[in-house]
Amino acid sequence: MVAAMHRPNGKSIQVQKGSATGTSSLTNAVSDPDIMREAERLLGGRTRDIKFSAALERAFRDRTWRQTAKIIRSWMVWVIVLDGLTLSMNVLLLPRAQAIAMLSPGLIIPIAAVTIWWVWQERRPAWLLDGVLNVGMFLILLAVCWMGAAAGGLWQERYLYVMVFVGIAGITTFSVAMPTIWGIATSSLVLYLTFQLHNPRIGLPEALAAFFFFASGVVAVVFARRTMSVLANKAFLLELRDGARLAALTEANERLDHLAKVDPLTGVANRRWMTELLTALAGRPDHLRGSTSLLMCDIDYFKPLNDRLGHAHGDRCLVEVAAIIDQSVRSGSDHVARYGGEEFLVILPDTTAEEALVVAEQIRKNVARAALPNPGSHVATVVTISIGVAARTGDQAWSADELQVEADLALYRAKKEGRNRTVLFGAAESSKPASAAGAA
Ligand code: GH3
Ligand code: MG
Ligand code: MG
Repeated sequence: MVAAMHRPNGKSIQVQKGSATGTSSLTNAVSDPDIMREAERLLGGRTRDIKFSAALERAFRDRTWRQTAKIIRSWMVWVIVLDGLTLSMNVLLLPRAQAIAMLSPGLIIPIAAVTIWWVWQERRPAWLLDGVLNVGMFLILLAVCWMGAAAGGLWQERYLYVMVFVGIAGITTFSVAMPTIWGIATSSLVLYLTFQLHNPRIGLPEALAAFFFFASGVVAVVFARRTMSVLANKAFLLELRDGARLAALTEANERLDHLAKVDPLTGVANRRWMTELLTALAGRPDHLRGSTSLLMCDIDYFKPLNDRLGHAHGDRCLVEVAAIIDQSVRSGSDHVARYGGEEFLVILPDTTAEEALVVAEQIRKNVARAALPNPGSHVATVVTISIGVAARTGDQAWSADELQVEADLALYRAKKEGRNRTVLFGAAESSKPASAAGAA
């Protein structure tokens, strides 16, 4: 895969390497300091006391939304299927009048279930999702009770059991906020009591006894649900902590990586990064490999400059020369690095030897025009540089070492032929400076 290899100063080049990662809701939560402070505070306390702030609750919902919504939607599909089967079986097995009486309340169920299914398809405001789930579940439970009442006789009580079973199934299955869970539990108990009290076959004491029996069961299930929710919340907090630690580690690694790739004095890339980049460019497959050129630049008579003006002045001079070279090349595609001492490398991807010579001359002239004093130089009164150029066309395979050796040999020739000039490896002539005593 082709990925971006970023130069230390923010510019990038396309080389063969690595893969990108995307952002997620967890990453957003991890990068929010308030959320992380709250998460650490809660993790420091007892598990059963975990109670999310509004922001944490939002982050948790964001993280678990997909799974929760999927479970609720598939549950609704099953409710519709089972309701359809029940109504069909009633038509086949029960007396006609009874089956038809159960039909109209039975039709409320698919309407309510489809509404919940549809609303829970998208991330909507929490109040809308929870509200629709609560009202929808109430209608489903009501429809079940009503089906029993419409059938009459023993069916009335049987359908109340079914209704409580449906309510408990919802409570255990839906990982939604506790108020919604309490809403479903209350609906099922209120409906149970109301329909039992209107059941002519059951007296008040019996109805109350059965109600308290079911109420204790439902409340026990709600508390079990709460334990499950608290454990899910804790798992989320631990996930946040892991995410934060990973982010801190990644950031530290990136900082280290940056430090390992940048020359601390001049701020351009260092030799190590440049070698990596050159190796990556050399390793590109044939169809991606264009012409590549390499410039090796060396300040002329730098040791005498140090000796005459002092080492600190020499350092400032290095910083200025690095900046001039950096500004003389195409930002984004060309790359400058300090090779060591007073030597700089410039990599010019997709650049022919002729084009590289033009760039090299431009760099050389820009350095001279900056008129940085060098009283120790024997070729000018100002700082000048010599440049060795090596180049490869796209159809030639090459190695990073080969190109560096050639650029170095060309630089050696530039020095030998009088300095303040550019030499292309293998060329018969070097480019001559315009004037001997002055700058360019
Ligand atoms: P030539 O024209 O042949 O390149 O001569 P030169 O004097 O530039 O080359 P030489 O290799 O003899 O000297 C390079 C000098 O660069 C020697 C060293 O003191 C100096 N140097 C190397 N690194 C630094 C640095 O970080 N800061 C400073 N101020 N000087 C440095
Ligand atoms: Mg040198
Ligand atoms: Mg030098």
